[in-house]
Amino acid sequence: MKTLGLIGGMSWESTAEYYRLLNELTRDRLGGLHSAPLVLYSVDFAAIERLQADGRWTEAGEVLAGAARSLEAAGAELLLICTNTMHKVADQVTAATPVPLLHLADATADAVRAAGLHRIGLLGTAFTMEQDFYRGRLAAHGLDVLVPGPDSRALVHQVIYQELCLGLVREESRAAYRRVIDELVAAGAQGIILGCTEIELLVRPEDSPVPTFPTTRLHAEAAVTAALTP
Ligand code: GLU
Repeated sequence: MKTLGLIGGMSWESTAEYYRLLNELTRDRLGGLHSAPLVLYSVDFAAIERLQADGRWTEAGEVLAGAARSLEAAGAELLLICTNTMHKVADQVTAATPVPLLHLADATADAVRAAGLHRIGLLGTAFTMEQDFYRGRLAAHGLDVLVPGPDSRALVHQVIYQELCLGLVREESRAAYRRVIDELVAAGAQGIILGCTEIELLVRPEDSPVPTFPTTRLHAEAAVTAALTP
């Protein structure tokens, strides 16, 4: 099995899920005491969040590129950026190292297509919902991407940074997300991408009348499959 290289800590709440899922999925596939060979580079999220808010993406990309080089030196053979949002700087990461990157939007789009859906709602940070680096990548796979209106986008974004990334899972916020999901379904969404790696800590399958696509789990599944493919 190839050694995975995780660029994590954004936030560590979801990176902990990656660690659990990668090991569980490896055990499920290989049995016994098997677990995932991996290296983790976990950043200080406060510094990254500041750069995001200030629009200093190139500097944030330099931090992640440095992490990628460290993971390469530590033996990583396949890289994962453990956040949807920071795929905004995916090109800086791929330019920094020859180690291949498993892009989260590709793994997600593959799962949506495999489910036979094409009109899909997207929840995530404002960066992910509003900018082309993520929506455009999904569209390139033939998906028609719907996002909530401005007030709902602000709410979804705020819950991510002020609650989920701090380990707070609130029933009121789950109810608010359910209303946003209903809004997307009323607009024609056949499924909902939980396009922020913390959202699946809040939204369960039963919170949506249509299938959900939890990106942390989908990314971990795609990573284990790729790591086991010669
Ligand atoms: N983990 C989140 C995501 O998947 C948000 C945190 C971040 O800004 O990286 O987008």
